[in-house]
Amino acid sequence: MNKHFCCPQCGNLRGLFPDYCEFCGSLETPFAQTSYIKVDLEKGMPTVEEAISYFQQYLFRSEELGVRALLVLHGYGSSGEGGRIRRRFRELLESNEWANRIDEFVYGETAHHLKSLKLSATLKKELEKERFSSNPGCTLLLLKHIDLHF
Ligand SMILES: [Zn+2]
Repeated sequence: MNKHFCCPQCGNLRGLFPDYCEFCGSLETPFAQTSYIKVDLEKGMPTVEEAISYFQQYLFRSEELGVRALLVLHGYGSSGEGGRIRRRFRELLESNEWANRIDEFVYGETAHHLKSLKLSATLKKELEKERFSSNPGCTLLLLKHIDLHF
């Protein structure tokens, strides 16, 4: 996993997991140095249930660490486990399963023009690199902004 978070204690870079720093053991919330996290739901060929539970771990942890966006790769297979993961994931999304955490979601295939989406310039640039636009194998989630001061 890419190490996109900085430990406030020792300054080493860490990933989203584990929830402690592997260098100094600090449990302090690391600083995010990225505007989005990529989650591959097909990695390791999981079952649909495993993939959804894996996604939720990422969603909850990303929210905790103040990440703005999740780029979910679920594949676009029309049959087999890959197709089922995509269908189930989008079903849950559309039935507002995670509505208290997710502000907005954009399917790759409907995102023809990143310009029309309300995203930061940095995030747009990153998504261009990821070839998100017009890609039916992924979904972009924008997480709710949590104000930690209240
Ligand atoms: Zn540390």
